[in-house]
Amino acid sequence: MIEPIAIQPATVEEEILFTSLRAQDWNEFLGQETVKKAFQIAIEAAKQRKETMDHALLYGPPGLGKTTLSHIIAKELGVNIRVTSGTALTKTGDLAAILTNLENGDVLFIDEIHRLSKAVEETLYPAMEDYALDIVIGKGPSARTVRLDLPKFTLVGATTRFGLLSGPFRDRFGLVQRLEFYPPEGLKTIIHNAAKKLKARLPDKAAFAIAQRSRGTPRVALKLFKRVRDYAQVKNGGGITPQTVEDALSMFAIDQLGLDHNDRKFLIELINKHGGGPVGLGTIAATLHEDPGTIEEVIEPYLIQVGLLKRTTKGRVISKLAYKHLGLEYPEKK
Ligand code: ADP
Repeated sequence: MIEPIAIQPATVEEEILFTSLRAQDWNEFLGQETVKKAFQIAIEAAKQRKETMDHALLYGPPGLGKTTLSHIIAKELGVNIRVTSGTALTKTGDLAAILTNLENGDVLFIDEIHRLSKAVEETLYPAMEDYALDIVIGKGPSARTVRLDLPKFTLVGATTRFGLLSGPFRDRFGLVQRLEFYPPEGLKTIIHNAAKKLKARLPDKAAFAIAQRSRGTPRVALKLFKRVRDYAQVKNGGGITPQTVEDALSMFAIDQLGLDHNDRKFLIELINKHGGGPVGLGTIAATLHEDPGTIEEVIEPYLIQVGLLKRTTKGRVISKLAYKHLGLEYPEKK
């Protein structure tokens, strides 16, 4: 099972840290300019018309700010947010209970929305379109459907697996936005802001060194910063320097590009078992005992972004750069 650092579940301690460091408004939410603009306009328009905002779907690899963004949207709209997830809403009754308890204008945030069952998803359709809930009363021939009016609300769905959402479901979102990886400069600022909030002294070069190894992902940047800070406290009396960053991250086997043991394993398996490709997604999934969708939408995007992997019509190919990065010789006659 492959589990890159970006998708390893956060420890309780980390979760508390992320929540305490969560960007609170547009000023603190850095980067993602296109997404930000789209929401700022949608929020303003909804407020001017005194209507609820369109339902919105946020997608992209984990840790890029989907949850944070949904909280900011609710705050900017001046409404409450109700948070749940596709794994928690197993029964249509659970969804009904949440929907009927919303207040007018509220934001309902459903994380991992691709995990909703078909039945729950279909209950959402009339709720999203007509703010109504169809409840079936009774069983067999005497069963009848009663329609309940719901408060007007905005659904914000987040997913790492856009490809798993059905067409009809996607079509019901007025705003569909993809979050992108962050450049190191952007992550550096996020790390500096976190250091400021935690009253930790962090030289610019050390912040940049962490940023460079954070896979374009704020959550990873904060995770690594926390590890570096702990390491510096124990080994260096608290002083964080570029060298302590280097030492701490090599101790956790995180390399110059931010790849961890599992990413390297992914690349090495493709090289050893499939000659570096081209190899189809299905074959990779079978080799690694991993779900193809997770490989495609969670593991591969960063490897592609940094040029270690290419998707071609014939299949996945490991790049020359990847061989170099792994210290392996590139077979020129491929
Ligand atoms: P996701 O829901 O996509 O998995 P989160 O919203 O939980 O990601 O983000 C993880 C952490 O990274 C949070 O602590 C959040 O404050 C921080 N973060 C994410 N995006 C940004 C951003 N654009 N600016 C500042 N901090 C961010």
